[in-house]
Amino acid sequence: MLEILGLDLDKAGRCQHYYGPNDVLALKCRDCQKFYACYQCHDALCDHPFKAMDKREVKLVLCGNCRSLLNWQDYQTGACPSCHHVFNPKCSYHHDIYFE
Ligand SMILES: [Zn+2]
Ligand SMILES: [Zn+2]
Ligand SMILES: [Zn+2]
Repeated sequence: MLEILGLDLDKAGRCQHYYGPNDVLALKCRDCQKFYACYQCHDALCDHPFKAMDKREVKLVLCGNCRSLLNWQDYQTGACPSCHHVFNPKCSYHHDIYFE
C-alpha cells in the first residue's frame, strides 16, 4: 500500500489542515516524488517547497480511501474511479500549487 505523508493523518489521508469528509486526495511533489496529504504538510516536513507536478504525468494523485493512483483526467471527474469516493471540489482553489 502506498504511503501518504503528513501531519495527524487518518486512514484515508486527511490531515491537520484538510480534514473534511471529502479531503482524501494525496498529492505528489515533483521534487521528492512522495505523496502528501497537502502542501502545508509537505512544507512542514520537507526542507524544500512543494513542487507542482506536470498535469500530463500519469499516476500523479492518490486516492487516500482505496490507495489507487489516478491520472489528471480521473481526478477531473470529481470522484475516484475505483472506490467512487467523492473528492473535495474546493481543492481546485489550490491547483496552481499542485499542478502545472
Ligand atoms: Zn517535496
Ligand atoms: Zn496538511
Ligand atoms: Zn479510491
